[in-house]
Amino acid sequence: MENNFRKKYLRSLPAVDQVLQSSVLLQLQKDYPQGIINNAAKEIVNSLRTGILQAETEEDIRDVDFHIEKLAGLTAEKVKETLRPNLQNVINATGIILHTNLGRSLLAERSIEAVKEVTRHFSNLEFELVTGERGSRYIHVEDLLCQLTGAEAAIVVNNNAAAVLLVLNTLAREREVIISRGQLVEIGGSFRIPEVMTQSGAHLVEVGTTNKTHLMDYQRAIGENTAMILKVHTSNYDIVGFTSQVSTSELVDLGEKYSLPVIEDLGSGVLIDLARHGLKGEPTVPESIGEGLDIVTFSGDKLLGGPQAGIIVGKKHYIEKIKKNQLTRALRIDKMTLAALEATLQLYLDEEKAMREIPTLKMLAMPLAEVEARAEDMTAYLKDNLIGKAQIRVIDGFSQVGGGAMPLEEIPTKLISLQPFRITTTEIAENLREEEIPVIARIHKNQVLIDLRTVREDETFLLRDSLVRVLKKV
Ligand SMILES: *Cc1c(COP(=O)(O)O)cnc(C)c1O
Repeated sequence: MENNFRKKYLRSLPAVDQVLQSSVLLQLQKDYPQGIINNAAKEIVNSLRTGILQAETEEDIRDVDFHIEKLAGLTAEKVKETLRPNLQNVINATGIILHTNLGRSLLAERSIEAVKEVTRHFSNLEFELVTGERGSRYIHVEDLLCQLTGAEAAIVVNNNAAAVLLVLNTLAREREVIISRGQLVEIGGSFRIPEVMTQSGAHLVEVGTTNKTHLMDYQRAIGENTAMILKVHTSNYDIVGFTSQVSTSELVDLGEKYSLPVIEDLGSGVLIDLARHGLKGEPTVPESIGEGLDIVTFSGDKLLGGPQAGIIVGKKHYIEKIKKNQLTRALRIDKMTLAALEATLQLYLDEEKAMREIPTLKMLAMPLAEVEARAEDMTAYLKDNLIGKAQIRVIDGFSQVGGGAMPLEEIPTKLISLQPFRITTTEIAENLREEEIPVIARIHKNQVLIDLRTVREDETFLLRDSLVRVLKKV
C-alpha cells in the first residue's frame, strides 16, 4: 500500500526520449549541441524520479508538474545555463571607475569597432603595404604615441608590469637600479617592484628612508655597476607628513651628470591634464617626457581608458634596444589590443572628443548634477515598486578612481541607499550577484549603495529591475 502512490507517479513520469521529442527541444537543437541536450533531459528526468522515490508521503509530490512540456522547459533552461559563458557581463554599481577585478576600462565604441574589424579580416599587422615586405606590428601606434606624449619613440607590450620587466631586463640585467625606499610599491594582484626587479635580473639598490629621500642618497649610491635610476609613481598610496622625494628634474640632471638613464613607471598614464576638467591633476605622460626622463612606462587600461597594454615611450636609442630584446617577443601585444589602442589614441587627438567618447574619462568627469538626476529618477521608481520593503533614498557619497590611480582622490557623487527591512544587506548583495546579469554593489553598514556613475545608460533599466526583483523576493 505504502508504495502505491510512488508507482503511480513513476508511471506518469515521461521517458527521456519523449521529452527530447518535444517541440521546444527539437527547436533548441538548431542552436545547441545534441549531446548537451540529451544529458540535460536525462538529468531532469532522473532528478524527478529520485524525488518520487524519496517522497515520504504523497503530499510531498502532489503539486509537481510532470507534463512533457514542463520537463522540456526545465531541460532548455539547464542547457542554456550549461553553455552560458563563464566570463560574463556584470553591472558595476560600486562607483569604482577602474575596478581591476571587474575588467578595468570599458572601451570607446570606436575601439570596439576596430577590434571587430581586425578580427573579422586579415590585416597588415606585420606587413608593409608599400614594399610588400615583412613589417613590424609596433609601428601602428608608434607615431601616435610620439605625437601625444612628445617622446622620440615608443613600443607597446602586454601590460605595464611587462613593460617594467622589459625595461629593467634590457637596460639593467645583472646591474644595479637605484630606487627610493619610499617608492618600493606593491600594486594589487601582487605586482611588487622588488620582485619584478629580481625577475628581470636587475639588482635593487634602495636609497633614503620610507618618508624622506634626498638627492645625496641617490648620488652616493651611484657606482661602477649602476645601470639606471628608477622612479615609481606611488599610485595607490601617499606618504604624507614629514616627507620629501627628489624631483624628476633633479633626477634627470643627476642622470645626465653620470650618463645614466632615468626611468619612470607612471602606473596610470594620463595624456591630458585632468585638472582642466575639475579633477585633481595626476602627472601626465607629456609632462614626464618634457622633464627629460629617458623612458616612461604606463598602463593602457587605467586612466588612458584603452585596452590592457603596457606602453613604453622615450628616447629612441633605448627603445631600439628594447625592441631587440628577445623577451619582447614573449610579451608582445596582440592585434585586437593594438587595434583598440590605436582607436583610443586617435580619440586623444581631440581632447574634448576623448572626454566625451572614452568611457573611463566620461565617468570620471560626469557632473554631480547628472549622477544626481539619474539617482533621483531611479529612486522614485524603486520607491513606487518597493513599498514596505526597504528605506530608499539618495545620499551624498564618493566615487573612486581605483586601479591604483589617484589614491586619495575621491569624487563627490550621489548614491542610492537601500536599507532593507527584513533581509540582511549581505543577502541582498548575494542575490544581486546571482542575477542573470550580476550586479556588483557596495555594502556599507546596513545599506546597499548604488553609484550610477559607473553604470552605463543602457544598463539602467536592467539594474532597476534587478533591484526590484531581489528586494521583492523578501
Ligand atoms: C598598475 C601599476 C602597474 C601594473 O600595471 P598593469 O598594467 O596592471 O600591469 C605597475 N606600476 C604601477 C606604478 C602601477 O600603478
